[in-house]
Amino acid sequence: MPQEHTGASIAPEHVTVLAGPTAVGKGTVSTYIRDHCPDVWLSVSATTRAPRPGEQEGVHYFFVDDDEFQRMVDEGQMLEWAVVHNRSRYGTPRQKVLDAVAAGRRVLLEIDLAGARQVRQSMPEAQLVFLAPPTWEELVARLTGRGTESPEEQQVRLETAKMELAAEPEFDHTVVNDQVETAAQRLVELMGLDPRTCA
Ligand code: 5GP
Repeated sequence: MPQEHTGASIAPEHVTVLAGPTAVGKGTVSTYIRDHCPDVWLSVSATTRAPRPGEQEGVHYFFVDDDEFQRMVDEGQMLEWAVVHNRSRYGTPRQKVLDAVAAGRRVLLEIDLAGARQVRQSMPEAQLVFLAPPTWEELVARLTGRGTESPEEQQVRLETAKMELAAEPEFDHTVVNDQVETAAQRLVELMGLDPRTCA
């Protein structure tokens, strides 16, 4: 039986929210953890955006249309959800998180800042971890170096990143993403796991 969320059975290290400014490398760190740390379950979000080449249904996202996403919201299935970069909607299916916790897994949510704030409200036991760039210049270099966005889009993302950096004090912990593997190890330690379990 899936456990109901009573508010009493979740400890901070059971559910960890990883957020941070755009292009800081949240996706890279969480992908590293998904691929190397078997004791961590990386939550799979629902999104209304189209799959990119190589992305698989149920592995990277649950790809749904607007109606289906709205149905999930209306039925209260989302732990949190947000419109990201003024475009598509992304949300965390709540029951899958609860099931994973009940099964003894450490759950990692890689979501945006608006989503992290909602989790603070709806699941206050969860810990919020801010992934920070080593420096502002490094963040700009990562964003422009990625080369996947237009100059206008890059400008929008930089403005967003400035606002997102200012949110760091709302978080329980900060991990600096100077190097993916070490950032992932620090995150795993905050989840109460021995990083040596990540192979
Ligand atoms: P992408 O489209 O590149 O896969 O993801 C774009 C952004 O959406 C990332 O910053 C990621 O953190 C955020 N995101 C992914 N899943 C969720 C979710 O379930 N909820 C929220 N609030 N943001 C999400």
